[in-house]
Amino acid sequence: MSRKKSWILLLIAIVIAVLWFGYRSGWFDSARTQGPATTSASNPAAPQNPELAGQAGLTHESPHLALGTPADATPEDEHLLLKPQYALSYKSAIVSPAWVAWKIDAGSYGTVPRYEGKFFPETGLPAGLPIATHDDYSKSGFDRGHLCRSLDRTDTVENNRATFSMANIIPQTHDLNGGPWLKFEDYCANLARESGKTVWVVAGGSYSTEPARIGKNRVAVPTASWKVVAVLDQGIKPDSITSTSGIRLIAVEMPNTRGIIRHDWKQYRRSVDEIESRTGYDFFGRLPSRIQQDLEARTDSL
Ligand code: MN
Ligand code: MN
Repeated sequence: MSRKKSWILLLIAIVIAVLWFGYRSGWFDSARTQGPATTSASNPAAPQNPELAGQAGLTHESPHLALGTPADATPEDEHLLLKPQYALSYKSAIVSPAWVAWKIDAGSYGTVPRYEGKFFPETGLPAGLPIATHDDYSKSGFDRGHLCRSLDRTDTVENNRATFSMANIIPQTHDLNGGPWLKFEDYCANLARESGKTVWVVAGGSYSTEPARIGKNRVAVPTASWKVVAVLDQGIKPDSITSTSGIRLIAVEMPNTRGIIRHDWKQYRRSVDEIESRTGYDFFGRLPSRIQQDLEARTDSL
């Protein structure tokens, strides 16, 4: 090979290497989503189908909120954050999410191992809000209790890692986190994995007016954890529900105390109405009012 040809080949190799590096580094994907979408909770997006609308069923561009965005009377003290993996409403007053909402189905599950790094402070919130760090929980006596849990986001490394944001975490006693709360998480996961159901979940904490606080950032400790769940049979679409068949609601509220690790999750079932009056949120607001009224008054007994 002539000297000139070698130089040209080398040059081509360098250009290809640079382009490949650029491609891997994301230089060319301006169209790809750049981090989580963020919007003020008091700033609702597209209006919903009035035919199917409940009273307070604000909807946003998130599959996790397809049955409605939990809405209370004071949206201005929260900040809505939409991520590919879940949606949440962040509340500075408790240095925690007021609620996290997510959807699970068979596709949520894969073989990705649990992310091994420290939990990380949420970067998608406006600067200046007090936010929790991993260390706030250290030696506090409370677990970093996932709301959208790691085990329900095992399809990709990125999706699993996303559950380790501290904005997806509330303080839970180990007996709650590893006891009835875990058992109910497993129960919901089984519905999604084995029974072909799609499960929409909203979860958060119940707080006293002067909650105990942990860590430098003064994270509020809830007195209980609640969860409301809508289980839709295969083939039932969230935006075309016109009857109560093929949809099951389950709600629980579990005390954030010790000594409950062996308790059956079923003993903590409540009606959605009870959780609504406790938290001030309307859940599943996109379900037709008549269907909300019927299903939300019942306490699951399967
Ligand atoms: Mn947990
Ligand atoms: Mn409701």
